[in-house]
Amino acid sequence: PFDEASDGKLGSVYTMVTELLLARGDWGRRSALRNKADGVLKLPSSYHLLLGTAQGKGLQWGRLGYGMWPPPLVNYCRGFDILTRKGRLIATLANAQAAWENSWPAAMPDYLKTAEASRGGVWELAPQAFVFHPSKGEANPYNELQNAFHASSAASSGSQVENAWILKPSDGSKGDRIRIMVELEEINRFLQHEAEKHALGDPVSSWVVQKYIHNPLLLEDGRRKFDMRCWVLLDPDYNIKLYRHGVLRTSAVEYNPNDLSNRFSHLTNHCIAAEHENYGHYEPTNELFYAAFDDELIRRFPEIAEKVGSVLQRVVLPQVRRTVVQTLLAGRETLENNGDYYRSFQLFGYDFLVDEDLRVWLCEINASPAVAEALLPGLCSALVRECIDPVCPPNQETMSSLEEYHAAGLQAKETGD
Ligand code: ADP
Ligand code: MG
Ligand code: MG
Ligand code: MG
Repeated sequence: PFDEASDGKLGSVYTMVTELLLARGDWGRRSALRNKADGVLKLPSSYHLLLGTAQGKGLQWGRLGYGMWPPPLVNYCRGFDILTRKGRLIATLANAQAAWENSWPAAMPDYLKTAEASRGGVWELAPQAFVFHPSKGEANPYNELQNAFHASSAASSGSQVENAWILKPSDGSKGDRIRIMVELEEINRFLQHEAEKHALGDPVSSWVVQKYIHNPLLLEDGRRKFDMRCWVLLDPDYNIKLYRHGVLRTSAVEYNPNDLSNRFSHLTNHCIAAEHENYGHYEPTNELFYAAFDDELIRRFPEIAEKVGSVLQRVVLPQVRRTVVQTLLAGRETLENNGDYYRSFQLFGYDFLVDEDLRVWLCEINASPAVAEALLPGLCSALVRECIDPVCPPNQETMSSLEEYHAAGLQAKETGD
């Protein structure tokens, strides 16, 4: 079970990464002090690796690593919120789509331009969405939303859920403040209210109004909705690595398209399922891993499985890979180090929905993802191996547990971690 790291804490991933490094004997730890007044970190004069806490808050990017050699590694990429704030992600994708004139990004590998990877069109990665800033007044896309709203209700067969929109605060997490609405009036009223709060000086977030995926694939057991969490590591050379394991976070109750106010049935965040009395009834922690998911897919889509074998590997994951690469190419100019005095890497948590037609939709990208307990040790040692060791090679002379380290490496090789 897991939840995203909240502000000010190192989070489960970097807590374990720290433990792994310290246990080796060739790393030592120094703390950074945070100035209470301005939140700025006071860092030691030299270090090899800087582990920023959740959201990378307080990192002074402009000075980071200045005067140090070798350039320190840091576990966030400057400007990452162009992908991880929900409103900014929508804008980043729209800008990239326009810049690449609606065709593939130049650096897109050919193997991801296949029909299976690109279902729905080159830039249809996430459900249609509009971003509203309470401060922008009439400049907000009310007309665009209205047109999309009417187009979708005209195309629907009349059921409520087919014309539903989900409202998400740009900076929210864990399903917090999310609501689902079916009336344009209601959406407008809500946005108007946010604008009024802003006018009165309340700090309000911008909002994403996104088409609700009304036909999620439901797990056979309990007819439940789920989302799929994939972990993606961006290394200091901007290589993209999708972790080979992922997890479905399953809802605790049956999907009910007729009651859009039931958060347990429509929002699949782990912390929401964990609040329900049915938590753990279907799966011990309302988590289902890839192997079990693939078994179910193969059983439920026999015509596809007959042709391709693994439905997960051949139909679902190609769409995931393509989305991951495309979003990180869209963000590359901002995220990539060039001319900086430090070298960045980052672990991202991608949330996807899978619909009845096995189409994969991007919900959001998380900056400080937590990791399912069962996967945490493997993912953390992979992170050390892929992002830290190549830049700061293990020091064999001071390593106390060299044998263990090699044994862990061999084991990782066997399991493919
Ligand atoms: P958060 O940061 O709060 O986790 P998400 O975008 O991941 O934000 O949304 C939370 C949950 O809401 C998702 O896990 C999913 O179950 C549901 N959800 C989000 N967007 C959509 C959508 N467009 N259609 C259907 N369900 C959605
Ligand atoms: Mg989130
Ligand atoms: Mg940069
Ligand atoms: Mg999420």
